Amino acid sequence: MTAAKMGMDVHRRPTRRFDGYVFDLDGTLYLGDHLLPGAADTVAAIRAAGARVAFLTNKPLELPSAYAQKLTALGIPATAHEVISSTDSLLLYLAREARGATILPIGEPLIGELLRGAGFATIDPASDDPTRADLVVVSWDRTFDYPKLVAAFRAVRAGARIVATNPDPFCPTPDGDLPDCAAMLAAIEASTGARAEAIVGKPSAHMAAALLDRLALSAEDTVLVGDRLTTDVRMAREAGMASALVLTGARPRLRPCRRRRDPAD
Ligand SMILES: [Mg+2]
Repeated sequence: MTAAKMGMDVHRRPTRRFDGYVFDLDGTLYLGDHLLPGAADTVAAIRAAGARVAFLTNKPLELPSAYAQKLTALGIPATAHEVISSTDSLLLYLAREARGATILPIGEPLIGELLRGAGFATIDPASDDPTRADLVVVSWDRTFDYPKLVAAFRAVRAGARIVATNPDPFCPTPDGDLPDCAAMLAAIEASTGARAEAIVGKPSAHMAAALLDRLALSAEDTVLVGDRLTTDVRMAREAGMASALVLTGARPRLRPCRRRRDPAD
């Protein structure tokens, strides 16, 4: 029996060091307002060894500066420049693919503010004619309601494209999981039959490019640490980065493998 199976701590030296370490936030460094055990010491040790550190989140509810403040308050000093969120990836994507578009935001007020700050005209789903929109931006929206769904439905029916911030079905919190952007996007896609042309957060190549650009490192020199196989680890693999999965967040508990009965047996 191995030490791990006997419940003993297993500490091994890493097989290599990287120039850049990218950490997911929710479920990896913290859960809600609580730092996860060992997170601050790990980041401090990596920095002390001279590597670059960045923080990555699909969560579109706050500005990178707010996540930096939260990390700093929890004991991991961070600047806004070190935090890359799905909203950074969104603005990079729209600047390239939707210059001059009039946008219907389905999200919390921050999304509309970011879009207007980047020079886009926005439509208010509560009061404007949604058929004027060239594009619908869908984000995690804790104020999502039927009138917003109707506005998005009418915009897409009139030809608007769809771009979403992140594909997460839910976000882990200390009070339980909460429905995330995929739920809003699914409602719009199901009613219109249309599909988002891009979901710009993890695991998309747009997000990988945004973080490597920020770190100024190549994929081979970077490792991504996260709690989700379907976003963190998948993005790292597809972008050519190494990855490390932590078991503190969204990853479902491993279940024992059951051997499937072979019908020929
Ligand atoms: Mg996470």
